[in-house]
Amino acid sequence: MTLHRAIKSTDELVEAGLIEVGDRDSIAAVTQKYALSISPTMESLINRDDPNDPIARQFVPDPRELVTTPDERADPIGDLAHSPVEGIVHRYPDRVLLKAVHVCPVYCRFCFRREMVGPQGLGTLAPEALEAAFGYIESHTEIWEVILTGGDPLVLSPRRLRAMMERLAQIAHVKIVRFHTRVPVVEPERCDAELIAALKSCGKQVYIALHANHPREMGEAAQGACSRLVDAGIVMLSQSVLLRGVNDDVETLAALMRAFVENRVKPYYLNHPDLAPGTSHFRLSIEEGQKLVAALRGTISGLCQPTYILDIPGGYGKADIGASSIEALPDGGYEVSDFRGGVHQYPPNPSP
Ligand code: SF4
Repeated sequence: MTLHRAIKSTDELVEAGLIEVGDRDSIAAVTQKYALSISPTMESLINRDDPNDPIARQFVPDPRELVTTPDERADPIGDLAHSPVEGIVHRYPDRVLLKAVHVCPVYCRFCFRREMVGPQGLGTLAPEALEAAFGYIESHTEIWEVILTGGDPLVLSPRRLRAMMERLAQIAHVKIVRFHTRVPVVEPERCDAELIAALKSCGKQVYIALHANHPREMGEAAQGACSRLVDAGIVMLSQSVLLRGVNDDVETLAALMRAFVENRVKPYYLNHPDLAPGTSHFRLSIEEGQKLVAALRGTISGLCQPTYILDIPGGYGKADIGASSIEALPDGGYEVSDFRGGVHQYPPNPSP
């Protein structure tokens, strides 16, 4: 049964038929620690007859979330180590993250910022803190790109988004504004003319990195939202997390990447899952991930290829961890593998 409103409690999970009454207490123990929200659009995609449904797996709490392994950490990608002022993460020279809000329309069970988001999380930046963040961006002329993330920045009202974009418009050295969001997929109705006009009000180039992990997420409503955004001149990229039980097979990944491209969303990042607390049941080994990515290379168009990325724990940034298809030989030449696994020689460069 679809509730037509976001599910935010264990009682509502029972009412919607997503958990059994007998599981209420064990699930409640999870939701006391980690936020719960499932948007009506995502709820409507869940197949109750499939105990391994990949949409349910992403959003319905699981008692295994209370098991934290020794390698897991509250701040897996080291945001705090690079936060000079509240709301800003300045990890790379030419860009910053601006985390204005720590609320999302859905809470992903594998979230890398799960200790920061939700009703008990870091909340929304107060007006003075937001202005201090803009002041930081203004005083650092090397910042070329501002990445609005969170939480999900597109939960903010068009009025607040417009105010933020107009403030960014005053900072000449910022040329690119990028949003990291799940909204076009999980709450596509938000992507209306008012929101799009607000995003465009800064006069900068606007990019949206859309987070989706399974091809079923790219349904009709999501397709409509992407179409409205791209038609308005916003460039869309994808970001997905490689998740056990959700998209850890070549067919699903290929269908997901093709769905992105068919909707003018260029595949960008396929993230190895971060070491967030209570998420070990989602993690594959890096070797398994490399095999999947190599198989993807032999399966689908170059347009559909994402880069397989690891955020190095501790805040050291992203590393491309796709297995290399070339190996240097002692004579200065190379061995190159093709997508079928065949190995070929490439000659050394002649001396100048
Ligand atoms: S939408 Fe992003 S920030 Fe929010 S819970 Fe999911 S992964 Fe975390």
